[in-house]
Amino acid sequence: MDKSAIQKELLKMFGKDRMLSDALDLMYYSYDSSFLTKLETTSPYAVVFPRSTEEVQKIMQFAYSHDINIVPRGAGTGETGGCVAVEGGIVLDLSQWKEIVEIDQKNMQVVVRPGVIHADLNSELAQYNLFFPPDPGSSLMCTVGGMVANNASGLRAVKYGTTEQYVLGLEVVTPKGDIIVTGGMKSRAIKNVSGLNLTKLMVGSEGVLGVITKIRLRCFPKPRARGIAMAVFDRLDDAPATVLDVYQAGILPSGIEVLDGSAIKAVNEFKPHIKLPDAEAILLFEVDGNPPSVEFEGDIIKEMAGKRARLVEWSTDPKSMAQLWEGRSVTAAAASRVRPDVSRIFAGEDISVPLSRVADVLRAIRELGQKYGIQVVNYGHIGDGNVHTAPVINPEDPAEVERVLQLVDEIHLLAIEMEGTTTGEHGVGAVRRRYAPLEHGIAHEYMLKVKQAFDPKGIMNPGKLI
Ligand SMILES: Cc1cc2nc3c(=O)[nH]c(=O)nc-3n(C[C@H](O)[C@H](O)[C@H](O)COP(=O)(O)OP(=O)(O)OC[C@H]3O[C@@H](n4cnc5c(N)ncnc54)[C@H](O)[C@@H]3O)c2cc1C
Repeated sequence: MDKSAIQKELLKMFGKDRMLSDALDLMYYSYDSSFLTKLETTSPYAVVFPRSTEEVQKIMQFAYSHDINIVPRGAGTGETGGCVAVEGGIVLDLSQWKEIVEIDQKNMQVVVRPGVIHADLNSELAQYNLFFPPDPGSSLMCTVGGMVANNASGLRAVKYGTTEQYVLGLEVVTPKGDIIVTGGMKSRAIKNVSGLNLTKLMVGSEGVLGVITKIRLRCFPKPRARGIAMAVFDRLDDAPATVLDVYQAGILPSGIEVLDGSAIKAVNEFKPHIKLPDAEAILLFEVDGNPPSVEFEGDIIKEMAGKRARLVEWSTDPKSMAQLWEGRSVTAAAASRVRPDVSRIFAGEDISVPLSRVADVLRAIRELGQKYGIQVVNYGHIGDGNVHTAPVINPEDPAEVERVLQLVDEIHLLAIEMEGTTTGEHGVGAVRRRYAPLEHGIAHEYMLKVKQAFDPKGIMNPGKLI
């Protein structure tokens, strides 16, 4: 079936208000937030906006019978080209399907459709004194469907884990058009070990196995108090050593962030009023819980950090906490402004390594930056070893683009060599797919067999993940 015949059929199914085929509209869908899609753009054949499981089923049956690729899309904030039709096909834009179906306060659960925005969900849940803990930096934009498909997390993963810990069950439309429910058709149970765990299989499957159309999430009670500590170090190695000391003192903070010298410099140039102390590394700890436990944990963190840090500050006052955290909250933006002619690119930006290797990795990345003549800003969730590397380049300069791609390749290989992974939270998509055999060995063959079982014709988001 050719492109215009596909568009005609979709127009019949969805009408002109919920289907796009204009070249300019389609061009918008050739991007997500990755550097890859800035280098290579591929427009889909058409975009549709389904708003019911039956509509998704209908389009899957149509695509399956005509061998047409399907690419699910949330808000397009992904960093890996995951929601872009790199091999052509129909994009299913689920971002308008925003319904919160049920808030089950008695069982501390919520059921949503995939297009609900993460921050909106937490605003609703706050009225019930509940929250959905994973907290990506893209919270104001990304959809819960995209988070589940990517197993997203954020700076509080160190205490609260990733999206997968909260997904109790899913409704998924398979490439053949079957509607399956994982986690039990009627189950509201928090614990469920019945059957093979298809819920876990779907979480993080990046749209290559089916379209997630309904999500049942577990919620947690909202903590009553917070505290923030900042510790400033003259030696890089003292930062991970302090994190370990805090853990060994029996404290699990809700966030532990690091800014190395490059990030401190970028923040101070971007927002001089923040005046971060000049240092090799800054750690920011967040603790949450009940007021006495927050004070207790704060005291231990001050004591542990005080063994190595040049300066330690602590606060539970909302205004001073915001001031202590401000440097971290502007780091990503600061990386984009280190020079007027450059921008920060999202490539090699998400490796995750063991805590014991973080300092070595930060040093190695600095050396790689020097080797390729590329400025690199480093920060990240040190509590779980997730390093966010921000290469800064002029994307209009082909030589610089070529060098940065080599740098990024070395960063990914470095992560594997250091017993880590190429991605801690942003996913594989089209950009890190080539490392899959190296990362997974023979297990990669089994992943391909699982894909084959769900998607024998290979129409579901091809060119991604495995
Ligand atoms: C500024 C910024 C900060 C970020 N910070 C973080 C962070 O802290 N932590 C983190 O984990 N990520 C982060 N990200 C990456 C991204 O926001 C997350 O991965 C997010 O979960 C993607 O959601 P989305 O709705 O934009 O999905 P999209 O980008 O639209 O899609 C992502 C993937 O999910 C698939 N998909 C989407 N919806 C469905 C569905 N309903 N069914 C099946 N597959 C589907 C797509 O095919 C694609 O493979 C950040 C991105 C930006 C731009």
